[in-house]
Amino acid sequence: MVLRLVFLGPPGAGKGTIAQRLCEAHELLQISTGDLLREEAKRGTELGNKVKAIMESGEYVDDSIVAELVENKLKELGTEKGFILDGFPRTISQAETLENILDKVGFELNGAFDIEATDETIVERLSGRRSCGKCGKIYHLKNIPPKEKGKCDDCGSEVVQRNDDKPDVIKTRLETYREKTAPLVKYYEEKGLLKVVDANGEIKENMKNVEMILKGVE
Ligand code: AMP
Repeated sequence: MVLRLVFLGPPGAGKGTIAQRLCEAHELLQISTGDLLREEAKRGTELGNKVKAIMESGEYVDDSIVAELVENKLKELGTEKGFILDGFPRTISQAETLENILDKVGFELNGAFDIEATDETIVERLSGRRSCGKCGKIYHLKNIPPKEKGKCDDCGSEVVQRNDDKPDVIKTRLETYREKTAPLVKYYEEKGLLKVVDANGEIKENMKNVEMILKGVE
């Protein structure tokens, strides 16, 4: 079966880390709207500058901008390769748009994984999170440090802290999530697609939980 999944869950619960590892293990394409937006911001275009300011405030970028990025990625993808949408949809309106896009390209979702962690875990993870400025690989100062301090294991580039992982922005991001994204849990539950993942443990344990759930999907 070709896996076509969406990942929900609060910032810092481990969506990105779990998605990266699952994609490596199952040869899926990770489509992270956060990464796509950060790439756009780095380009320094007019759109990029606008996006950067919104991201650094902890609010969400316009639905239409994100939907276009996702549609382009899905259109490029053949029918053989599965994907994980990491951080999309984030609003009910995006979920409805996604249904239209999937209809157009002829794909169907097989699961919506809600990656959950307590507020305490989230704050600890976000404040210690670092990521490669070039390839985006995710680290944590204590839990998943790079082999060589400050350098990415995969590409050797500098490992940095995201501007939106600073304490004042973290608070806004959690509020935005609760207001706009949390309602998607019920949305996907009603569609019979929801799988809740307890991601409070260590990464190995969390991956085991995800793989177990995946067995039920396949
Ligand atoms: P992430 O890397 O998933 O934590 O996303 C970082 C930031 O990018 C978010 O706080 C939003 O500002 C923006 N972003 C990512 N995905 C979306 C989305 N689906 N809709 C709106 N904004 C998004």
